[in-house]
Amino acid sequence: MSKSQETILEIDLSALKHNVTFIKSKLKSNTNFLAVVKAYAYGSDATEVAKHLETLDVDYFAVAYTSEGIALRDAGIEKPILVLHPLPENFKVIIERCLEPSIYSQRVLDKFIAVAEKQKQADYPIHIKFNTGLNRLGFTDVEIETVLKTLETTKAIKVKSLFSHLAASEDENEKEFTLNQIEDFKSISQKTMDGLGYQPILHQCNTSGILNYPEAHLDMVRCGIGMYGFGNDPEINKKLKPIATLKTSISQIHTIKKGDSLGYNRAFIAKENTKTATLPIGHADGINRLFGNGKGFVFINGEKAPIAGNVCMDMIMVDVTNIPCKEGDEVIVFGPEHSAEDLAASINSISYELLTSVSQRVKRVFHR
Ligand SMILES: *Cc1c(COP(=O)(O)O)cnc(C)c1O
Repeated sequence: MSKSQETILEIDLSALKHNVTFIKSKLKSNTNFLAVVKAYAYGSDATEVAKHLETLDVDYFAVAYTSEGIALRDAGIEKPILVLHPLPENFKVIIERCLEPSIYSQRVLDKFIAVAEKQKQADYPIHIKFNTGLNRLGFTDVEIETVLKTLETTKAIKVKSLFSHLAASEDENEKEFTLNQIEDFKSISQKTMDGLGYQPILHQCNTSGILNYPEAHLDMVRCGIGMYGFGNDPEINKKLKPIATLKTSISQIHTIKKGDSLGYNRAFIAKENTKTATLPIGHADGINRLFGNGKGFVFINGEKAPIAGNVCMDMIMVDVTNIPCKEGDEVIVFGPEHSAEDLAASINSISYELLTSVSQRVKRVFHR
């Protein structure tokens, strides 16, 4: 392991392999695996992670935005890349870089057809997104007829997949809602396929959908957070390995006297003599300013040190009064032993947000 004093994000690619293997073991052999690598592969590093995933035989990639797909193509990724949230201004470059758009509304469908025809495309792959209750993006069932009619007017595009997205697949209390979504997608996709006269790939499960609704795996699953080591469930989390460790070190130790203040706005006033450690990581690195003043903690020599006072842009101070430590000692913000989920929970957030918040200023170090 690295002895760097700087703040670094270590990415364990063997843990990535472990997680992919675990999740694949939950699938039927003919179910395809789409790896979601949006947002820098959940805050890690999209190109290194995607390159490694290509060696692990994933079938598909997905990103949120066109620019993320371009970055993967620039890095030499050759597998198909679904762009989940493309915007019409990027349709030309989507085609130029062989990216595959999610088409989620009539407006977007019409615009994509216009661009594909202008670029003289034939059977360009598109993915039709249906809204079954998340109410975020997607066609509804009443639009199927018009979508089919529109598709009949052109040879420029061809439907490669039909998909939908579950709203609460991690929540046992919303099982009825989820089962309804699954049923709705079944009838929507059947109706659409009847009209198309061929069978595109069908998919609707994210990580918790994969784990909780095996009957809904269909032809492909879209896995994000699970690959990075979180399963939205304590039992599953034991089987997965978080791939990212955010670590830093102690820059300086102070002993502040009872009644003295610490940090900006004097938000922390020492109730007794207090030993604090200053760390080179702040809100510009991804430590949200909702942390601080007792919310959130780091680990030093295995012990929990609460974040004291306000989070600064480039630093936090932690209370180490009862922790044997010295300047230069390693500090773990989160990692396999100290869950990002727990740290995120201290500000009512989730692993997804904390992981994707680690800013590009933090150096990524890879372990194979
Ligand atoms: C982000 C995303 C996923 C991945 O979800 P996880 O919960 O991280 O597995 C799957 N599908 C869509 C449409 C997404 O936006």
